[in-house]
Amino acid sequence: MKCPYCGGLESKVIDSRPLDEEVRRRRKCLACSARFTTYERIQPHNFFVVKKDGRREEFNRDKLSSGIRKACEKRPLPTGAIDKLIDNIEAELYQTGKAEVPSSLIGDLVMEGLKILDHIAYIRFASVYREFADIGALKQAVDNLATGEVMTPANQLPLLPHGVVNSLIVKGGKNVRSR
Ligand SMILES: [Zn+2]
Repeated sequence: MKCPYCGGLESKVIDSRPLDEEVRRRRKCLACSARFTTYERIQPHNFFVVKKDGRREEFNRDKLSSGIRKACEKRPLPTGAIDKLIDNIEAELYQTGKAEVPSSLIGDLVMEGLKILDHIAYIRFASVYREFADIGALKQAVDNLATGEVMTPANQLPLLPHGVVNSLIVKGGKNVRSR
């Protein structure tokens, strides 16, 4: 850590205070005795994402973020909700401690998060991620969502109002659900 006053490289820690996600340290330059403060953060290890076809690429938060933002486009979400979701997913991925994670794990985490955040965004993301072959497969996903038989273990979602479900399905040509 270079002293901001003389450029000296040796300093002594004279006070250390842990904050939430970083440590604040008061340092004293051994060359000129000036005092300065540093903030040290944990730098998480990088990891690779293994795609379906076996290719690997370094995890890229921007990529994760753009997929989620696209699904949430024009949805009335509270400020910061999307960022929080991205942060949570990123943290969860880092917490696996693995050098490689399958892209399907990331997809599942996004699905799980969107399901709680916004059902329309969830269906949008799912339709890309699960590559629904036809309207039947999409209907199945919406039905699962509506009945609470979800694709992931978390079961805490508020159900879609049936009107929303119907309007989604009607788009496919026929109204298959009438309650
Ligand atoms: Zn100095």
